[in-house]
Amino acid sequence: MLRNDQLDQWDRENFFHPSTHLAQFARGEAPSRIIQTARGCHITDRNGTSLLDAFAGLYCVNVGYGRPEIAEAIAEQAKELAYYHAYVGHGTEASITLAKMVLDRAPSHMSKVYFGLGGSDANETNIKLVWYYNNILGRPQKKKIISRWRGYHGSGLMTGSLTGLELFHKKFDLPLAQVIHTDAPYYLRRKDRAMTEAQFTDHLIAELEALIEREGADTIAAFIGEPLMGTGGIVPPPAGYWPRVQEVLDRHDILLIADEVVTGFGRLGSMFGSDHYGIKPDLITIAKGLTSAYAPLSGSIVGDKMWKVLEQGTDENGAIGHGWTYSAHPIGAAAGVANLKLIDDLGLVEAAGKNGAYLNAALTDAVGAHGQVAEVRGEGMIAAIEFMEDPDKGAFFDPSRTVGAKVSAALLEQGVIARAMPQGDILGFAPPFCLTEAEADEIAGKTKKAVESVLG
Ligand code: PLP
Repeated sequence: MLRNDQLDQWDRENFFHPSTHLAQFARGEAPSRIIQTARGCHITDRNGTSLLDAFAGLYCVNVGYGRPEIAEAIAEQAKELAYYHAYVGHGTEASITLAKMVLDRAPSHMSKVYFGLGGSDANETNIKLVWYYNNILGRPQKKKIISRWRGYHGSGLMTGSLTGLELFHKKFDLPLAQVIHTDAPYYLRRKDRAMTEAQFTDHLIAELEALIEREGADTIAAFIGEPLMGTGGIVPPPAGYWPRVQEVLDRHDILLIADEVVTGFGRLGSMFGSDHYGIKPDLITIAKGLTSAYAPLSGSIVGDKMWKVLEQGTDENGAIGHGWTYSAHPIGAAAGVANLKLIDDLGLVEAAGKNGAYLNAALTDAVGAHGQVAEVRGEGMIAAIEFMEDPDKGAFFDPSRTVGAKVSAALLEQGVIARAMPQGDILGFAPPFCLTEAEADEIAGKTKKAVESVLG
């Protein structure tokens, strides 16, 4: 076995880590951690340090670590057939079964699923399909995509543009011109503090209408949003938001893409966030929870209305000019089948709702009354704590104080991983669905200590 110091040296010399301060890492100033094993909700590094992972990796290991059922399905598939492509009608038992399992669980008006590798490429697929759809319908000018500030949809060229976070645009020449952003449905950050939640929803809808009016509905193809905003702050939508957005989009013949990369397959305590909030999307993006990250796999679920036009397009133009070498990779598909079976067998969607409610309540009890905790919020097995200098006056901390990152670091010192969300002083929690009450209590208790050590 390689020595840790050897690995650390190779790591800093050779490995380009995503979302990392490259210069500090290469100079040895930023920490590294080499993960070795994981079981349930815990990961263990090469120094033998065990950590309670209250973010399930990147909110993706939904069934928890170390599930032999999934590992064995992957191994069996690799031995029998590690790879064959899915072009021109080729499939495998795993990919065909998984497509059926996904459609059986998706809202009833969804028709087919295209498989990719990760959430970013699935959203790239979605935008191409939306453009193709409007070209087939003879509306080549109807191409712009509305996204929300603080939305997260990936970090490619198009998907990084859809993402409404500055870090993903700055110095990358993004967003691309076809993407337009509207206000985030983020009540805590409303500009007018006097607004009620209902008035804030009215305001968001008025802003959306104004944007459509300004740009022209005949130039706008689709609206993309996460049912519950994730990376932008873990923010459940304000009351009444989704049905009203849907009504506006339907009236202007604008397609709706529900990005369910985080919410798909149970995180909110419902199979899909679209069902949870009564959304009727034309496309649904899935990834993380599809395989619980045991293998990379994503999907674009296409609704009936779009599917008919895609078929018409290929009758008119020949085979669809879209596909990846690894679309519907058999190993990812086998992981997906085993994962969805496990979720059913163990009742993990219900568990996410029940255990998540326990975690949310425990966090609220632990820190909700702290003077600089503006909000403890969440839904199902996802939660956030937002810190403010003076919540009553609506005063946020100066970002240079990095309060969220400091609380996250203090929590890590006690052996619990929660994520400092990238924009704002927000601590995110999204553990595996199998989190026990004892683990939830540990997270809450240690979070209280971490908050007090940073903010007093
Ligand atoms: N969409 C949402 C809602 C996400 O949260 C993410 C990743 O966190 C993505 C898309 C991008 O997925 P990936 O990182 O697999 O490309």
